[in-house]
Amino acid sequence: MNPVVTISGGGIIGNYISSRLNNNNIETLVIEKSSADLSDKENIRTLTLNSYSKELLDDLGINIDYAEIKKINVFDGEGTGKIDFSSDEINSENLSYVVYFNDLQKALKIREQERTLFEEEIKKFKEDGVNKSCEILLSKDKQITSQFIAGCDGRNSNIAKLASLKPISSYYNQTAITFTAKSSLKDLTIAHQIFSERGIFAIMPLPLNTDESTHTIVWSVDNKRLRDHEIKEYVQKNISYFERKLKTEIIPNSNIVSFNLSNHYFEEYISGSLVLIGDAAHSIHPLAGQGINLGFADADAFCEEIINAYESKINLDKKLVLKKYEIRRKSMNLLMLKSMNFFVDLFKSDNLYIRLLRNIGLSGVNKTKFLKRFFVNHASGRNKI
Ligand SMILES: Cc1cc2nc3c(=O)[nH]c(=O)nc-3n(C[C@H](O)[C@H](O)[C@H](O)COP(=O)(O)OP(=O)(O)OC[C@H]3O[C@@H](n4cnc5c(N)ncnc54)[C@H](O)[C@@H]3O)c2cc1C
Repeated sequence: MNPVVTISGGGIIGNYISSRLNNNNIETLVIEKSSADLSDKENIRTLTLNSYSKELLDDLGINIDYAEIKKINVFDGEGTGKIDFSSDEINSENLSYVVYFNDLQKALKIREQERTLFEEEIKKFKEDGVNKSCEILLSKDKQITSQFIAGCDGRNSNIAKLASLKPISSYYNQTAITFTAKSSLKDLTIAHQIFSERGIFAIMPLPLNTDESTHTIVWSVDNKRLRDHEIKEYVQKNISYFERKLKTEIIPNSNIVSFNLSNHYFEEYISGSLVLIGDAAHSIHPLAGQGINLGFADADAFCEEIINAYESKINLDKKLVLKKYEIRRKSMNLLMLKSMNFFVDLFKSDNLYIRLLRNIGLSGVNKTKFLKRFFVNHASGRNKI
């Protein structure tokens, strides 16, 4: 087996890359640790895709249900600051799209299953300087030769560890809680986000194949608030606060999923033939729903560089191909990570002056057209992130 690109990790990003490269006649092989199981799991977790990520999926012909978001209302639950973003401000039909994580994962997995070795992982790899390729040994002792390894095995990337690439990580000391809920919110194209002492709470519409009044909730809570509560109990006790703020009933109707929140990034994305992509390279706070969009922007840049290099038919300079990808993505990813950290810190603060500033700040940006357009263009992916 001699695929041009061996992909460690058949999640959304790994499978997207495999599919796009194969459409361009570049052979790939996906090495996925989990099983080939395609059975339906409870749909709880969602992803918010920006227009650019959705376009990439449309180009591949991925056909799943999306909920369209045309407006996002953001406000400070403890103060008067508020801001709203609307698709009209950027002359676009929609701002973003909510999908079920499982739906997108499954659609891409089905597409790539014949190019995937399931229940396998890369055990070690070494550069072959003579043939300018890379020898890869898998856990069941199969051996492959490849030009590139795309590290798409998510946070705590094993392939990064094999290459001794060291992440820079920190914890937010927060837990993300997610579940679906029925609500009486009427406009199913509006998402709401509330920053408050009880956490950062987002409620967004779900794809319309489900009950029309069902929404997805993504809620991050400081761990110290959870110290004396089970997560389910915390949700039951505190949801009424958000019901009052939004003037609606919110009745959870799924199991609750929770994640400890941390962020990480690498100073180097490359080691020989290996390059890190998506959550393997960086992870951020989910407050702006940008994690998967950064992954798609990475995947797009990586595929473009590989396709261009193979189409140009000049002697392939592998190092240059990977470096071009790294230059295109590393600073953008770091900027997004630092911006998310800034917002988390800003809304965590109990300092009166900071609270005053953030209220004035939010409402001020809301009144300043060019600043708003800047934020909306970035969030919607129109300015490439
Ligand atoms: C609560 C929460 C809410 C979120 N909400 C949003 C949102 O609204 N919008 C958004 O854009 N992002 C969101 N994210 C982030 C988003 O889920 C991730 O950015 C995205 O799933 C990353 O995709 P990936 O393919 O890079 O990695 P992963 O989804 O982690 O996939 C990695 C794949 O690699 C496989 N694997 C792992 N180890 C190995 C190994 N050693 N060998 C082989 N295979 C391996 C795994 O089985 C998996 O299939 C959220 C995250 C959290 C925690």
